[in-house]
Amino acid sequence: MEEIKRIAVLTSGGDAPGMNAAIRAVVRSGISHGLEVFGIVRGYDGLIGNEIKRMQSQEVSNILQTGGTILKTARSEEFMTLQGRKKAYDNLISKGINGLIVIGGDGSFAGASRFAGEHNFAVVGIPGTIDNDLYGTDYTIGYDTALNNVVDAVDKIRDTASSHNRIFFVEVMGREAGFIALRSGIATGAEAILIPEVEGQVKQMMKTMTNRGEIKKSSIIIVAEGEREASIWEMADMVRKELPGSDVRVSILGHIQRGGRPTAYDRVSASRMGVAAVDALLNKKNNVMVGLVNNKITLVPLSKTIKLHKEVNRDLLAIVDLLV
Ligand code: ADP
Repeated sequence: MEEIKRIAVLTSGGDAPGMNAAIRAVVRSGISHGLEVFGIVRGYDGLIGNEIKRMQSQEVSNILQTGGTILKTARSEEFMTLQGRKKAYDNLISKGINGLIVIGGDGSFAGASRFAGEHNFAVVGIPGTIDNDLYGTDYTIGYDTALNNVVDAVDKIRDTASSHNRIFFVEVMGREAGFIALRSGIATGAEAILIPEVEGQVKQMMKTMTNRGEIKKSSIIIVAEGEREASIWEMADMVRKELPGSDVRVSILGHIQRGGRPTAYDRVSASRMGVAAVDALLNKKNNVMVGLVNNKITLVPLSKTIKLHKEVNRDLLAIVDLLV
């Protein structure tokens, strides 16, 4: 493979706070290594539409502390097609770019992996998703900020819950995974946590609530978006029926979870990953994702991140019931 002189970076799929810190690290470390760095606007859609611009160091000034992504993000139907990916390839080649860094989740990596295979193109992934549900890394960019956003919000809900003796069901993000729910539930002292990875939790939650109904009337129950046993509204009704006279409310936290200033942890990790992604391209370690395992940078094949499932931390699960 020819020497890498020009690289491009894009953000794809769901936005996550800390993506800007990763973009900055790619641009600055790329320039430090003597590379020309390009930013692609609006993910794969922008790549197909040739929205590719040269990035200088000053263009990434003052973005480290901001949420969202300055490169914008998108979901691209066209990149799902062979022709779309061919257009993307032609655009990169016409600019002499032969290395691509994709910041996104497993969907973005599935696309990146296909693209790399079809065109023998050097691609490196950086895990950017608030859900933390990517195999091959302990941690994904945005997760820590989202978690802290949830903790802030639930602490506030706790004030009103305890003042009025209310029971609050709080829905947090995580369509497929309970990482945010599990950790935020422990951090806020939730009375119950329901996540898609574990079955039989509705029964357990009902038991907890009926047992404690007389002792303490205010409660917080954290429910991951992807919980399948029952909807959050059904659960609220079940508790209302079981505990007549109880004041049960539902709060869906929604998009506030993914916004705002990234935490120091997200900024530092995103910076490390951005630098490591450029290093990987320069060292011809292609079609890999940069990960953090036990706080050390690792490289894992993109194919594994797509196929393999990341488990929630069972040690954390084990302590939940002991703390209620
Ligand atoms: P995330 O990266 O956050 O998981 P998505 O699942 O929405 O987000 O994926 C982002 C984009 O990646 C999709 O809109 C699509 O353009 C591309 N993509 C996802 N899966 C594939 C695939 N199997 N082949 C080609 N492109 C894909």
